[in-house]
Amino acid sequence: MAYIITEPCIGTKDSACVDVCPVDCIHPRKDEGDFEAETQLYIHPDECIDCGACVPACPVEAIFALDEVPEKWKTYIEINAKHFQK
Ligand code: SF4
Ligand code: SF4
Repeated sequence: MAYIITEPCIGTKDSACVDVCPVDCIHPRKDEGDFEAETQLYIHPDECIDCGACVPACPVEAIFALDEVPEKWKTYIEINAKHFQK
């Protein structure tokens, strides 16, 4: 499975989730070149270990388990995966 970052991250992007992720699968980090250009952060679908630690860390409730992503934000499942296919 994997956790998914959805629309509320856009405009917030505070990286609180990055700091708590034990496997460093949330990108771009502030020290990565594309951080400024990206509108939100993304979770690597294969590297996420489904620990759930990022969910309470997010101030805007943008992160959901794959099977709990709200219907209106289902497109973000693909959006997260696509970020890592570049
Ligand atoms: S669920 Fe755990 S492993 Fe997956 S992105 Fe969140 S903190 Fe990282
Ligand atoms: S904690 Fe939430 S708002 Fe902040 S970067 Fe992560 S997903 Fe985006």
